[in-house]
Amino acid sequence: MSKTTKVTVAHGDGIGPEIMDATLRILDAAGANLEYDRIEIGEKVYKSGYETGISPESWEKIRDNKYFLKAPITTPQGGGFKSLNVTIRKSLGLFSNVRPCRTYPPYVPSNFPHMDIVIVRENEEDLYAGIEHQQTNEVVQTLKLISRPGSEKIIRYAFEYARAYGRKKVTCMTKDNIMKHADGLFHSVFKEVAKEYPEIEADHWIIDIGSAVVANRPESLDVVVTLNLYGDIISDIAAEVAGSVGLGGSANVGMDHAMFEAIHGSAPDIAGKNIANPSGLLNGAIMMLVQLGKADVAERIQNAWLKTLEDGIHTGEIYRANRSKERVGTREFADAVIARLGECPLKLKAVKYKEGVTIDVKLSEPVQKEKSLCGVDVYIDWADEGRNADVFGKAIESIDNDNLELKVISNRGVLVYPGGMKETFKSDHWRCRFSAKEGKTVNNGDVLNLMSAVNEKGFDFIKMDNLYNFDGERGYSLSQGE
Ligand code: NAD
Repeated sequence: MSKTTKVTVAHGDGIGPEIMDATLRILDAAGANLEYDRIEIGEKVYKSGYETGISPESWEKIRDNKYFLKAPITTPQGGGFKSLNVTIRKSLGLFSNVRPCRTYPPYVPSNFPHMDIVIVRENEEDLYAGIEHQQTNEVVQTLKLISRPGSEKIIRYAFEYARAYGRKKVTCMTKDNIMKHADGLFHSVFKEVAKEYPEIEADHWIIDIGSAVVANRPESLDVVVTLNLYGDIISDIAAEVAGSVGLGGSANVGMDHAMFEAIHGSAPDIAGKNIANPSGLLNGAIMMLVQLGKADVAERIQNAWLKTLEDGIHTGEIYRANRSKERVGTREFADAVIARLGECPLKLKAVKYKEGVTIDVKLSEPVQKEKSLCGVDVYIDWADEGRNADVFGKAIESIDNDNLELKVISNRGVLVYPGGMKETFKSDHWRCRFSAKEGKTVNNGDVLNLMSAVNEKGFDFIKMDNLYNFDGERGYSLSQGE
């Protein structure tokens, strides 16, 4: 028997308690030999006064035990409640969200019988930093932050995963035709890292057409690596296309900790009725067993689960009168899996996990480029004079600075001065780009002097971004039309 391992377990909200009971019964019956350190998280905890949805004692257990099996929770709407899922992933450095999505033809209906993809989603960065500000009456900003080490970690993880599990191709998806710096960084790191894995094919799709490929030609994909938001969206598309959101498991993996869950939510519409499919959480738990070095138990459970599907024992959302044999509830489905422990599927491909698979990610040495200040973008809230860009532009141009001069003004990214078009819509949010005068160098002191002068002229500045070159290469985007 494998050694006893303590893992943290949370039963969550909605269908969480039902699917967790079913999953733990199967793990115990299969001899997983786990000790459960139970914690309460989610709706009740939010409502008892913890805006994060978790108490400090529960945090300690998660940190001590390192492995966490979590049922879905409900985040209450409004009221400043933060998503506990995002908080846990980021606080514990769970940088990689791995979501396998495959089909089980003909037992679970899907248009794509050979689909078998793994989405590796970056889990800590991107718009999920949740840094948002209302800056003017009309404009709200969300910051998208992408780092080189964050990109390298997840991209290496995807290639290491492909190598460890015998996958043939890694596809990167970004929107670097528009976000040339943020998504461009991710894509360029992908190209660098791919060279170190010559045996694995590497390609890239722009995310919009890439999502269409996930929806329409998923059989052409193998491992997909992408940024946080795109990964969030395409993994739900992939799960749905594979047949049901109720089937997919998900691993959130960091250097020291890992959290395993179903990809679906707490499904309050079907809670307490014994009709939810426990397979998503069970598949998450199977990924946990593999990572805990209990590959034999993982294999035993997954093969029994495949045999259950194959025998036509189905929960309501995948039950079809013409292909299923028996429509069962959550508890009965778990009983059916337990009854088949030790059996393998006859038509679906049985799984075989290698023992001792570890995925090690080592980052390359950071390269220090020379950073030089070359200008500043000053954002101003202005809605006077019928928002006439020429009136505004001339007033801003008259601001005096020894080393910086106005270059262009844009509004929501489009050039409006000098030489803008009168048709362009103008919000109350103006970006004034100042660059170093010919032959001058600039420093932060020049920026401070400029900001004072903007203030003295009576303009309401709302933020500024310094403009830098790195090793002489422009580190900022141009305005549309600049
Ligand atoms: P959901 O995934 O809970 O439900 C979407 C639909 O799929 C519903 O019709 C539901 O009945 C069905 N469904 C989901 N899981 C199923 C299962 N196991 N078996 C059968 N049918 C299943 O998504 P939602 O309704 O958008 O969200 C409900 C709540 O879940 C929200 O509060 C949301 O914040 C939360 N949520 C939590 C997590 C998480 O904890 N990881 C993830 C997503 C959503």
